[in-house]
Amino acid sequence: MNRKPKMQRFPLKAFQTQFPDDAACLEWLKNRLYPDGIFCKNCEQITKHYRVASRPSYCCEHCGNHVHPTADTIFHKSPTPLTTWFYAIYLMSATRCGISAKQIERETGVTYKTAWRMFKQIRSMLGDEKSGPIGGFNRKVEMDETYYGSRSEGTRGRGTKKTPVVGMVQRKGQVRAFVAADVKADTLRGLIKEHVLPKSTVFTDDFRSYNGLDARGYTHHRINHSERVYVAGDVHTNTIEGFWSLVKRGIGGVYHSVGRDYLQTYFDEYSFRYNRRFDEQPMFWSFLQQVEKRDAVVRQTESIPEPF
Ligand SMILES: [Zn+2]
Repeated sequence: MNRKPKMQRFPLKAFQTQFPDDAACLEWLKNRLYPDGIFCKNCEQITKHYRVASRPSYCCEHCGNHVHPTADTIFHKSPTPLTTWFYAIYLMSATRCGISAKQIERETGVTYKTAWRMFKQIRSMLGDEKSGPIGGFNRKVEMDETYYGSRSEGTRGRGTKKTPVVGMVQRKGQVRAFVAADVKADTLRGLIKEHVLPKSTVFTDDFRSYNGLDARGYTHHRINHSERVYVAGDVHTNTIEGFWSLVKRGIGGVYHSVGRDYLQTYFDEYSFRYNRRFDEQPMFWSFLQQVEKRDAVVRQTESIPEPF
């Protein structure tokens, strides 16, 4: 089975037809969040709700109780029109390697500060951490780390002050990537135990911290990078390295410098796209459907600082 990434595009024209105005966006959001109809607290049942003309809300036909579909979503209390939000999501989902707040500013006409906040909010929805572990019996998983930091922190990775990101990818499957406190053996073992199923065949390089995976229920193969051997049969870490370079191309070329605190959300965004690369549905829908992860979003909004 040789699947190629599809990257189904959602044509701009189709987007504009489906979301011509804020009312259309709100209606979509309502239908997404309440697929079985809106349950009215007062009437204690699902009732018919009418759109309130002057407000972005719907009201119960019996008791007049208002429901705001944007409540607790990334759109909550935002003065930015929903059409602008939806278009920003459209733009962010439309490329493999990401788009900057600057581009959102240019394309949507909002200020840079607003673009930057929207950008952060949209990314805050994209964590795949709850999608469960990868790998399993007869599954091949590559594990590796990469390092982020300024040039002053060194040009190399291991053994410098740079921030490590630890990744695990199932070949032809999904990736998980985490900003880590350090790359000690205990840290790496903790991550693999949490995110990779036992009995997986795990490929790493010869870094010492990967010692002992055999004893923890994995079949462990190592490639001797320090001897400049990169591939021996199917023993290699090319898949995870490909993912690292995809992210580095994106962050280096598009996002400029990334603060340590935000590194995880960038990896979440890239992992999100990567994990859906074979999907039939256009990436736009995968992004937009994340708006229903309401609780996660609210916690994130509280701590978003201003740019610069
Ligand atoms: Zn009611």
